[in-house]
Amino acid sequence: MNCKKNTNRVHMEFCSASENERFARMAVAAFVSVLDPTLEELADLKTAVSEAVTNAIIHGYENGEGIIYLTCMREGRKVIVEIEDKGIGMEDIEKAKEPLYTTRPEWERSGMGFCFMENFMDELEVQSEPGQGTRIIMKKNLSFH
Ligand code: ATP
Ligand code: MG
Repeated sequence: MNCKKNTNRVHMEFCSASENERFARMAVAAFVSVLDPTLEELADLKTAVSEAVTNAIIHGYENGEGIIYLTCMREGRKVIVEIEDKGIGMEDIEKAKEPLYTTRPEWERSGMGFCFMENFMDELEVQSEPGQGTRIIMKKNLSFH
């Protein structure tokens, strides 16, 4: 693990349970608190994390059993959050990222999760293989204020 000055890295894993969506949001908020983010930056980060973790639970593991891996990193004021599941994965990542695209309309999903992640973070990378799982890498540069 790379632990240079002014960088940090925290890694954790938790059960794919809906109660852990809140846990993940709070964990990321705690991780960035040392950087004194604005309320808007904090809300953006929490929303993006919440969307990615919810996706891992309901799509990746289809509301069944599984482990979600969360890594928070920072390099100065650049925050990187990775959320990974080893669930069903995706056939077509570009299609999944389109606004209003959902494979679960019967669960009243609106197909906006990836759009929120993209808009609320500065960078979004999606890695996924059918049958292997999905890794979401999101980056946000916190302001100096
Ligand atoms: P919403 O987020 O608005 O409730 P949604 O979850 O369907 O609806 P997105 O979060 O944008 O919308 O995801 C789009 C689609 O990408 C999902 O419907 C699902 O098919 C696929 N997807 C997203 N995350 C995963 C994942 N971790 N594993 C497998 N498929 C995923
Ligand atoms: Mg979603």
